[in-house]
Formats: sequence, structure tokens, C-alpha cells
Amino acid sequence: MNDSLRCWVEVSRPRLAANFRAIRTFVGPDVEVMPVVKADAYRHGAVEVSQALLAEGARWLAVSSVEEGVHLRRGGIFGRILVMGGVLPWEREALIEFQLTPVVHSLEELATIGPVAYHLKIDSGMGRLGTLAGADEIAAAVRRAQPARLEGLMTHFASSADFTSSQTAGQTRRFLEVRQGLREAGITPVYEHMASTNPVLLARRETWQNMVRPGISLYGYFTAGKGDAPKPALDVRPVLSWKAAIVLTKEVPEGALIGYGGIYRAERRMRIAVLGVGYADGMPHRLSNKGRVIADGKFAPILGAVSMDLTTIDITHSSRLRVGDAVTIIGSEEEASQDARHLARTAGTISYSVLCGISARVKRVYV
Ligand SMILES: *Cc1c(COP(=O)(O)O)cnc(C)c1O
Repeated sequence: MNDSLRCWVEVSRPRLAANFRAIRTFVGPDVEVMPVVKADAYRHGAVEVSQALLAEGARWLAVSSVEEGVHLRRGGIFGRILVMGGVLPWEREALIEFQLTPVVHSLEELATIGPVAYHLKIDSGMGRLGTLAGADEIAAAVRRAQPARLEGLMTHFASSADFTSSQTAGQTRRFLEVRQGLREAGITPVYEHMASTNPVLLARRETWQNMVRPGISLYGYFTAGKGDAPKPALDVRPVLSWKAAIVLTKEVPEGALIGYGGIYRAERRMRIAVLGVGYADGMPHRLSNKGRVIADGKFAPILGAVSMDLTTIDITHSSRLRVGDAVTIIGSEEEASQDARHLARTAGTISYSVLCGISARVKRVYV
């Protein structure tokens, strides 16, 4: 079926839908689930993923930038779209034209946004985006900004998977304090939201309010909790698998050096395969001489340096593999299975970075 492809990912729409439904069921009917589809839906394809989620009943989507929001609109996506990563002055026009909803990060910005519905972000202790202002100041600014309408109040956590830290409790307290102050001033936004994947899966229910913003869990991943965190309360499974075709197989003699820098030396006569995937596709260079892929149902070590367009593996275990056959980088074959977390661990990075690192050159196939 993928005969013409050299390196591709398969994205499972049923898995994506199942993950979304599991999250929605878990948080219950009173909590709106706003899927995060930024960074091209963590490289799963923002338009296709959004279509599938809207078909499952999602009403809101979250992206990072106006550009990402415009991309969704041009792709025919008509749900509400929240732009979380800040709106630059020259992006305002497109924000309005494409009916995107901004997150406002400061009271100065609020004074200039014009007559739109917006979500206001509180910096409750993450120290990144959001305002540090207190409730009274915010209330006054919200009033002055009318007819701009405060539709949502939000914050974002820095350490929500870490149950040895009190940072999340502190951030939650701060958020609720500001909310309370606003309520006393007669300001009650429709949506209040704090939680990304980790506070949802690790059941920090006090953070859910009436909206949650899961990203990575939709795609089947989460961060294991630290300290006495509960086990994730629901099952999400990876949506994407990643394959590459074999470009060449050959036998090399004992002592042969493999690839740039000659950092691998064959200890014996071996059969190798050169794959049509490299760091330009997002294969982490740090997997050089360390990582593995699945070839003919078994793990096959990466030999030598991962190069820009090619990666070499040991296939001594299999005499069947031929040019054009596919190997699995993320996914499973028979008993062998590995996901983005395994690659990330070996490469010394995080699963988010492995997924987002899969480059535009890698074709996507929806199954
Ligand atoms: C990326 C992001 C999310 C989603 O985070 P995950 O850990 O992928 O669930 C939620 N909220 C904000 C503000 C984000 O930037």
C-alpha cells in the first residue's frame, strides 16, 4: 500500500477518536474538552486531526499561533479556535478575519485588542506567559476593555506531573484567588481552565474546572507521575506509527566501519540495511550507535551515526529483508514494540520532542 514511500507515518483515526472519547468520559459531561492541535497536531496533521475531533463532538481547538489557526480555517475547520501562544501586533488583522479567539497575556495588551471575545491567562507561577496582576487590577482592565468580552480565564502548570512538588497546589490556589476576586467584582467568564494532559490523567480534579486542554494524551502519551502520583486513570494509546523503507542491504566483513566518523566497527561478518530515514526526517541524531528499530519482527540496532537522510541497522537476524521492505521506527511488529517514549529515553529527550521532530518531509498516511 505504501509502495511509493521512502519514509512515512501512519496516523490512526480510530485510535485518536478512542483517546478523545476516553478523556471526555473520564472528565465527565460538565467539563469541556478542548483538544490541543498546535505544532501541526504534534505532527499528526492539524487539519485531519481537527476534522476527526470535531466529528467526535469537540467544539473548541487550541493552537499556538495565528498562523496555525489560519491554516485550520483554510483547511475548512469551523469550530472555535483558541490561539494560546500570543498574538503579535501584525497578526491582529488575520485573527479577526479568520475568527480566531486570542489568549491575552497582559493588561497592556488587553487595552488594545478591540471588540472580541478573549481568554485571559494568569501567570499563577509558571513564569512564562500570562499576567501577574491581581484581581482588582484585572477587573478594572476588563471593564475598561469592553466591549471586548472576557470569555475564559486560564492558567498553565509548570510541574503538574510532579507530586513531590507543591508548585501545582500553589498555582491552583493563586488561580482560584484571582477567580474569586473577579467574581466579587461581578466578572464571571464562561470558561475556566488550567489542566493540560498531566493534571487530567493524574486526576488532579481540583484543576479541571469546566474546561481542560489535553494535547499529548490525545496522541497516546503522558508523563509518568513523580512521587505518590496515581497511576494514569485511563488508557490512551499511541496514534502514530513511523516506518521507513530499506534502500540497500548488504553483507559487510568483520572490521568494517559503518558511516560518518567510523564510530561503529563490525565485530563479525554481518548483514546490514540502509534505511531511507535520517535526522532531516526527525530521526534523532542522538540515536547514533544507541537506538534501534524493528525489522522483520525483531529489534535491530542502529549502527554508527544517524545521517541526514540515511540510517544503517543490523539485520543479521533476518535473511528475508529486501530493498523496499519497511521497518518500524515507532509502532509494533509481532512481539516487538516501541513508541516515542522509548526513542526519547534513549536519545535523552522527551516524547513531545520526538513527535514534533518528525519533519514535513515525512509523508502522512491516514488509516
Ligand atoms: C501545549 C499546551 C497544552 C497541552 O499540553 P499537553 O501536555 O500536550 O497536554 C495545554 N495548554 C497550554 C497552554 C499549552 O501550551
